Amino acid sequence: MTNPVQIIAVGAAAPAWRLPASEVAAAWGRKGGRGQAAACPPDEDVLTLAADAALRALAASGLQTDIVDGLWWGTTRPPFAEGPSHAFLAAAVGLSAKSGGTLCAGSAHAGLDALVSAADAVAAGSARVALVVASDAVIPGPGTAFEERSGAGAVAFVLTNDDGAAAIGARVTRTHPYLDRYRGDQEEQTRDIYDGRLFREEVFLPVMRDLGQQLAALDITAWSLPDPDGRLGAAAAKQLGAGTPASTGVYAALGDTGAAAAMLGAVAALDAAGRVAVVGYGGGRATGVVITADRAVPGAAGLGDILATGRPTTYAEVLRARNVLVPNGETVAMAVPPQSAQLVRGADEILGLLGARCVDCGTINTPPTIHPHCISCGSSKFVLEPIARHGVVHTYVINQTMPAPFQAPLPLAVIDLDDGARVMLQVAGDGATLEIGSEVDLVLRRYAVERGVPVYGYKAAVRPVDPADAAEAASDSPQEA
Ligand SMILES: [Zn+2]
Repeated sequence: MTNPVQIIAVGAAAPAWRLPASEVAAAWGRKGGRGQAAACPPDEDVLTLAADAALRALAASGLQTDIVDGLWWGTTRPPFAEGPSHAFLAAAVGLSAKSGGTLCAGSAHAGLDALVSAADAVAAGSARVALVVASDAVIPGPGTAFEERSGAGAVAFVLTNDDGAAAIGARVTRTHPYLDRYRGDQEEQTRDIYDGRLFREEVFLPVMRDLGQQLAALDITAWSLPDPDGRLGAAAAKQLGAGTPASTGVYAALGDTGAAAAMLGAVAALDAAGRVAVVGYGGGRATGVVITADRAVPGAAGLGDILATGRPTTYAEVLRARNVLVPNGETVAMAVPPQSAQLVRGADEILGLLGARCVDCGTINTPPTIHPHCISCGSSKFVLEPIARHGVVHTYVINQTMPAPFQAPLPLAVIDLDDGARVMLQVAGDGATLEIGSEVDLVLRRYAVERGVPVYGYKAAVRPVDPADAAEAASDSPQEA
């Protein structure tokens, strides 16, 4: 029997910061520290990363988002610990209010749980198009052995029963009831592995050997292998005779991305034909899935740029963003609590980034709820529709002082979008590269955590200027001649 589950597109995302391992080592009086790991600034988390990756995969698929039957999302810690995490992400990526799916959580195995559950739903015919997202931002206990390896990232696959560039095939699971990476209820941070040598010799490597040998019989050309400490991935590959795993470059750039690691490592091999063994580990479970690509999967080639970007950050900055380093003093509460009627009624237009297009004159009014009448013609007949996600800066200001919990500098910009809508939004980052006329993309970001509730909305992200375009512009400019 042929397997009907196909991958038609993939997408990846990483947060803005890269923390050098040497920074963490120095803080704890250790020498060395090799490599770096990705870390979230205050306005990014597992939900914004998931949205970034999902929107890239959906764009690469060429599909309309409203035909996606469900979202399967795997992450160790959903942003609303108990609450509407799945519904918020589904709305943010434009899925229909009728879409289904599953939120998988609780360990780094959650990404594989989401992938195999979605594949089963497509195989069973209960979903024709399934969006699988795995995202994570690992929060280690300060001073733990894996702290400098703890990373963040996201990956998304669009699955269908139609023709795709790759097919999902055999799978193998092994379980071992062992406290690997562990966090107790009501604990903020993830603990160290109690006995690293015991874990390596009696749990991790035997499980990888057993599972890997099953997969290796299937003529695997590339591997995505878990690497929780920077050495175990290479050790597992060596005992399988697997060469350098495809996932190595992702670990080098982003660190251990937890629930996202297995699928993200696979994307590194999906830009060409081949057979990839995708192995995820966590919570005493390991699962391997075989993906056979007939050709490059749309979206996979975008991974290189994502791995190459990011700005260096400091350990203190990361501890502040993780709420480990907390400033003294009062914070100023938002005027509108997240549970209030105004935000509840506006949730769809905020998360779906909707505008109200005037039926009489075509002007797009934003945000819809504060414009009962068209700003151009005064009509009150509107159709709600997603507004453009790209535009140019009309004007901007950079706030140099902000009350906590906001952090200065905080840039605000008025943006003219491609569809004619004009919006005013915060700008991601410190605004150092912001100029009138800058090209921006609108991206979902976390504005604040207010009364224990994460609050999401869109920010403008300045597009990096392509050096080739900049050189061309300079040579075209008469002032430069
Ligand atoms: Zn009008």
